[in-house]
Amino acid sequence: MHTIDQIYINGQFVTPHGEEMFDLINPTTGQIDGQVRLGDAADVQRAVAAAKAAFPAFSRSSLAERGAILQRLHDAVLARADDAAAALVEEYGGPVNTSVGRSRYTAQMFLDVKKVMDEHQFVKTMNKSKVVLEPVGVVGIITPWNSSAWFIANKVATAIAAGCTVVVKPSELSARQNQILTECFHAAQLPPGVVNIVNGRGDVVGAALSVHPDIQKISFTGSTPVGKSIARLGVDTMKRVTLELGGKSANIILDDADFEKAIPAAIQACFMNNGQACIAGSRLLVPENKLELVKQLAKAAVEAVKVGDPHHAEFSVGPLVNQKQFERVQKYIQIGLDEGAELLAGGVGKPAGLEAGYFVKPTAFINVSNDMTIARDEIFGPVLSIISYKTEEEAIQIANDTPYGLQAYISSTNLDRANRMAREIIAGRVHINGIHDDLIAPFGGFKQSGIGREFGPYGLDSYLEPKAILGVEAQYPR
Ligand code: NAD
Repeated sequence: MHTIDQIYINGQFVTPHGEEMFDLINPTTGQIDGQVRLGDAADVQRAVAAAKAAFPAFSRSSLAERGAILQRLHDAVLARADDAAAALVEEYGGPVNTSVGRSRYTAQMFLDVKKVMDEHQFVKTMNKSKVVLEPVGVVGIITPWNSSAWFIANKVATAIAAGCTVVVKPSELSARQNQILTECFHAAQLPPGVVNIVNGRGDVVGAALSVHPDIQKISFTGSTPVGKSIARLGVDTMKRVTLELGGKSANIILDDADFEKAIPAAIQACFMNNGQACIAGSRLLVPENKLELVKQLAKAAVEAVKVGDPHHAEFSVGPLVNQKQFERVQKYIQIGLDEGAELLAGGVGKPAGLEAGYFVKPTAFINVSNDMTIARDEIFGPVLSIISYKTEEEAIQIANDTPYGLQAYISSTNLDRANRMAREIIAGRVHINGIHDDLIAPFGGFKQSGIGREFGPYGLDSYLEPKAILGVEAQYPR
């Protein structure tokens, strides 16, 4: 049993004012595995006061000082990567292989942000003026449970690079990962008050941050409805917002693609992280004249997916995070059946022998039309909708016919064709022939997938405010 009963304010682990204990349930067994004590609005006040007090000095720290902090954070997070991976497996059933990779990648994030900071132009001359990029102020960071540490690391690293101080409200469902990361922040000896962490419920701690007058920006990753509510709450104090929200990404297989490779890869692109990924390619768009081939390949690929205890490397799909998410995904599979989609593999119910945890059957529907609920809503589970198209134009039209615009995928042996098509797709990232990693290129969504971008110089700029100094040759010590 793990008991996490402290939050982190002004460089110290302290007992929260809030007294509620929240059960941590292991999704593989369905058993209570620990508890976390949740903070409340009074804890937000304390944390924001600490961040506000630390801001004047930290905002004027040198790039060399901030670079040294980012290096120490990398070292501290890398040293705990195995512990963090274990927490990922326990806490939300992340398959062990990907969890280890992700934890190491989380450490790398700090060095990539340092590189971006070192190359950024914080002071430039523009026409007759000097333009200085100033840190925006105290930032509130609100994150989801899927890959919690990864999202917090990215946001905190970028805020530090900009010279901002932060208050983080992680998801209560990822308390163990958050605790390990907080211990890393402490081990890296950050100046007190630069990073503060308050565990708590979204509608209590998250909402208190979103309205707080001393917070200038909220950086949020999570669902679209909560993102909208945070933007609404922040408008009275004119908060800057970066919102990384949901997705319903199209994976377009063109008729000239290598189907034997592209279809199994498309199944993986939907089922990654047990289907609990904002970037999941959950709509697979295939040419109508290849439907029979797709049917055979997709059925075989889905049925070959091994579901089971995420501690064992042979299983690529583990359980969903909790009972609520399990029921939500079951509901969507039933809606797919009720609305007349053809079930290709999987279906309602738990896989045989996995009744204790929140396991679902990897599921694919074929002959889905893009107006069905399973093609429109973000399901956040291993459920794939296969939709056929007649022409390239129709494929683009279907891909863009969604309220979301986070990612898209195109498979083709003709790169010119794929590149041309990528320009037509309304999405923040378009991957050609596979899923590609890039921690410097912008990440974020069009339409209801969000506002703003993370990673690289675009991400750093979102923590900075341009100030024009006119009429004098200002010298800034940067
Ligand atoms: P969620 O929106 O339910 O919660 C996210 C965070 O917001 C949590 O910390 C939660 O406690 C907090 N919150 C909830 N209500 C709040 C309120 N009223 N005010 C302030 N904060 C509040 O999301 P989740 O279930 O934790 O995560 C899954 C969602 O996140 C999916 O929709 C997924 O697509 C999205 N997501 C997006 C990205 C991206 O980069 N675009 C990445 C990962 C996840």
